[in-house]
Amino acid sequence: MPKIKIDKPKCKGCYLCVVNCPKGLIKISGDMNIKGVKAAFFSRSGKCTGCAMCAVICPECIIEVYDT
Ligand code: SF4
Ligand code: SF4
Repeated sequence: MPKIKIDKPKCKGCYLCVVNCPKGLIKISGDMNIKGVKAAFFSRSGKCTGCAMCAVICPECIIEVYDT
């Protein structure tokens, strides 16, 4: 099943990935990262399709999509 990995310390908290995941699998963390923003994380609450929309939309290029 496809999964994603977000490099959370580098996330700037723009949430573009959050609003663009068609499955709603990316959420906002309650904790601050090293940049002082609430970073995005992969919630694993449903089925990732591997569409890579999140990776394409991320302006920081910190999301990797991979299959396991
Ligand atoms: S690859 Fe697609 S379905 Fe999976 S988390 Fe990213 S946007 Fe969502
Ligand atoms: S699109 Fe990238 S920088 Fe923006 S919240 Fe998602 S992971 Fe963070």
